[in-house]
Amino acid sequence: MKGYMLIGGEKVFKDREIEILFPYDNSVVGTIPDGDEKDAELAVGVALKGFEKMKELTAYDRYSILLKAARILANRSYEIAELLTKEVGKTIKESMGEVGRAVNTLTLSAEEAKRIAGEEVSFDAAPGIKGKVGFYRRVPIGVIGCITPFNFPLNLTCHKVGPALAAGNSVVIKPSENTSLVVIKLAEILIEAGFPPEAVNVVTGYGEKIGDAIVRDERVRMITFTGSVETGKIIMSRGGLKKYAMELGSNAGVYIDEDQHENLDVVAEKVCRGGFALAGQVCISVQRVFVHDSLFDKFIEKAVNFTGTLKVGNPIDESVDMGPVIDVRAADRIMEWIEEAASAGARIMCGGRRVADTVIEPTIVVDVPENVRLFTGEVFGPVIAVNRVSGVEEAIEKVNLSKYGLQAGIFTGDLKAAFKFADKVEAGGIMINEIPTFRVDQMPYGGMKESGIGREGPSFAIEEMTEIKTICFDVGL
Ligand code: NAP
Repeated sequence: MKGYMLIGGEKVFKDREIEILFPYDNSVVGTIPDGDEKDAELAVGVALKGFEKMKELTAYDRYSILLKAARILANRSYEIAELLTKEVGKTIKESMGEVGRAVNTLTLSAEEAKRIAGEEVSFDAAPGIKGKVGFYRRVPIGVIGCITPFNFPLNLTCHKVGPALAAGNSVVIKPSENTSLVVIKLAEILIEAGFPPEAVNVVTGYGEKIGDAIVRDERVRMITFTGSVETGKIIMSRGGLKKYAMELGSNAGVYIDEDQHENLDVVAEKVCRGGFALAGQVCISVQRVFVHDSLFDKFIEKAVNFTGTLKVGNPIDESVDMGPVIDVRAADRIMEWIEEAASAGARIMCGGRRVADTVIEPTIVVDVPENVRLFTGEVFGPVIAVNRVSGVEEAIEKVNLSKYGLQAGIFTGDLKAAFKFADKVEAGGIMINEIPTFRVDQMPYGGMKESGIGREGPSFAIEEMTEIKTICFDVGL
């Protein structure tokens, strides 16, 4: 069937199409229209009408519709999960996990729709002011452009659209061109649940063309973006005067302290799972591991042993633990980064080979020089770089040796070390006795440094997606 965009609830087809491929074997999953500036312009115009229609809904209406959408999504879990696996290449277990989280994100957004509030302002706290009373309210900002990446197309779109609609805005969504089909299904569910069709629009195509057109449209009052730092910077330089929320990349670091001998089995497994989930294509994947010198060799042995138990292959097979990366270009780049590290003196302890066009074995590399891309960049592939450190002070220094700052983790039984790490590491989230990959959807989530601007998690996103209106009465008292 020909693919379509969704504008005002209408299916929009185009002659020019883009094929969506299953990353595991390049078979065609479906097509999407190759949209252009005119489609973006149309969608924003429709979303403006949608914003007017959203004003007719009460907070309770928005709550009820979001909750209904969450139920519809839950009822269609397996069908949606299969599509996720086909588009992203994540394992079916991971896809079921993402659908469950998306249901939760919509439910959390529904609950937050009831809690949007302002408070009284003490006008008479200024010298000479009497007889004035008033308050401020949080009001929706209008049309929000939601631009989303390929790795969690469903849940990360829910993190934008859920809070935006909960607060009474309308949206134009531009999903990754690799993973647009599941986002169209989500938009259809939101409309089926009761949102005005004009308030939920999805345009498809290439980011530099249709994404850029949304970003530059002055009628769009906010861009909420999740993706790479490079794209984030382009968007902020092109969009002009509007609000921005930026959820960008990272190369998360974790430290394993000297008192972890007894826990090493559990810690090694967690670290590997954090590095190899979704073939390492999670923004908070474990990438850089710093291990206390005294347990370095033991840690590597356990990590390598655990990694050997992971089954790599076709992600649709329920017994598979790790599937492919998104495309051949990504696999080429990841292999190049592994080779660069090896030629600079790093040692590959397991993996390091490509078993198919898009499938790379889970790879552990040790003694990685700090000037190679495996250390400085975001690998976004199934590779963990492990280096030795002498203690928590050095671990903090090394974790901070990064332009990114999304999340970090420490395994320690030492309260002082944990506090020091939490205090000094420059990241939006610090996980103690947990990997940096840990996230629940209600927590404030976002980065410091180049990892981003603003926080997601429905209650926090609603703050970003509303503006304050102050109302003052002269009551003549
Ligand atoms: P990406 O290449 O930056 O693309 C993200 C989105 O931006 C896609 O929809 C893309 O469209 C669009 N886009 C590209 N160029 C654009 C432009 N000039 N103007 C407007 N939109 C444009 O990222 P990705 O490869 O999909 O995702 C991986 C990145 O996302 C990693 O860096 C990862 O860390 C980050 N990420 C961050 C978080 C977080 O919460 N912090 C979560 C998940 C992922 P096309 O696909 O059509 O190019």
